[in-house]
Amino acid sequence: MTSVEADKPNNTSRDSSCGTRGGRWCVALVLLAAVVALSLWWANRTQRPKIALIGIDGAEWSVIWSMIERGELPNFDRLVREGTTAQCESYGQTMSPQVWNTIVTGKHYLEHGIDWFVVKAGDVTEKGDLEEDEDLIPVTSRHRRVPALWDILSQAGHTVGAIGFWATWPATPVNGFMVSDRFSYSRVNKLASAHDNLLHQTYPAELAEELRDLIVTPDSVSPAQRRDFMSESVQADDWRKNHDIVSEFDITYAQTETYHRVAQRLLDRGQPDFFACYFQGVDVISHYFWEFMQPETAGRTVPPERLDSFGDTIEAMYRRQDTILGELLERFDDDTIVIVVSDHGFRPVPFDKRSIPTVSGWHRLHGVLAIWGPGVKSGMTLTDASVFDITPTVLALMGEPVAKDMQGRVLEEAFEEGVLGAIDLVAVYDRMPEQAPINEADIQSPMDQAMLERLRGIGYIGGGEDGAGLIEQPGTPDD
Ligand SMILES: [Zn+2]
Repeated sequence: MTSVEADKPNNTSRDSSCGTRGGRWCVALVLLAAVVALSLWWANRTQRPKIALIGIDGAEWSVIWSMIERGELPNFDRLVREGTTAQCESYGQTMSPQVWNTIVTGKHYLEHGIDWFVVKAGDVTEKGDLEEDEDLIPVTSRHRRVPALWDILSQAGHTVGAIGFWATWPATPVNGFMVSDRFSYSRVNKLASAHDNLLHQTYPAELAEELRDLIVTPDSVSPAQRRDFMSESVQADDWRKNHDIVSEFDITYAQTETYHRVAQRLLDRGQPDFFACYFQGVDVISHYFWEFMQPETAGRTVPPERLDSFGDTIEAMYRRQDTILGELLERFDDDTIVIVVSDHGFRPVPFDKRSIPTVSGWHRLHGVLAIWGPGVKSGMTLTDASVFDITPTVLALMGEPVAKDMQGRVLEEAFEEGVLGAIDLVAVYDRMPEQAPINEADIQSPMDQAMLERLRGIGYIGGGEDGAGLIEQPGTPDD
């Protein structure tokens, strides 16, 4: 018993006040507490997850679910089973430039300024007249009026990397890398090779040269590569004559593979705190091939030989996107929270409702959202999530304040306790990246005309009686 009593010197000193004989103990304890508090604070700071935002334009849950049921799409399946998902509500006319810029800024297009595919040349504030083509140019990074996630996070000292997002050319300075949307041949005539000399395709500028060998051009797409998506007999027409669907496939396939290869190489050099990569293939293929996947929705008889050739094209593109997703997941650090998002879903458009006969799929208001990683709830479904919520959620996860003027919210219910910590607020984010003053020549590129051609082909500009290629608006809120 006595020895036990003797082993309790701490009790004695704890009873003492700091000014007396326990002073040294007291100082030591205070110092210890300070060290513990500091290291907890530091751990909290440094244990913030990395974020990977994967944008899949036009990804549609109904296609993903039915393919998962058939045992396909193992990586999407993993995200659904192990993560939190939602029907992500889009807004407005669900046009990609508007919505993607909302996803990465948290702002309505009236605020972020990217309100269509094109703008009037010579005026960065005025929306282009959709019926007039001569003086229109595709939207550029110079037309965005608010900072994007990569700007905000760069300014806060995080490393960032972004690949392929809408309206990112000319590439702006970030604390990491930026590969702009003009780096690939994405929305471009396959003959438009002049863009090889286009400036500001990447930040830093010299990165473009280092990545040049990764560009897949549409005319390099081989019959063997096409065979995974359509029957062997199909050949691409000369797409300058018409916007045939095989040429559209070649272009979007080339873009998807280019950004996939770029993403892999840049991730292999080291994953930034915030990584974001955009893929367009599912959207373009869904526009042009829907009636072959679901001929019963076509509102006309689809020739059997077309069904043979293209019946599997959309699902093949989802399989490819799933493989790409898997290859990215393999590269991410263990502490990465992955957010897969689409700007809208997809649905069939019957023949008599089309403004362009070959465009058989159009946007549905609700797209895909899947959040996956450490601290993300498993098998959870959010009932209320929108494209406005992505930026606030990413900021909160990375320990940065959410701006009060963002209309979305942090998707708190997707995360286990302690993942988010206290959510700080700031009035507004309005610091833009530092760039040279705008020069008209800086935002016109040799491939502008080819890009406009393609937008016209898909019905995004000047395609129908209503001037926008749309006979129907994308849908009601419960769509
Ligand atoms: Zn889209």
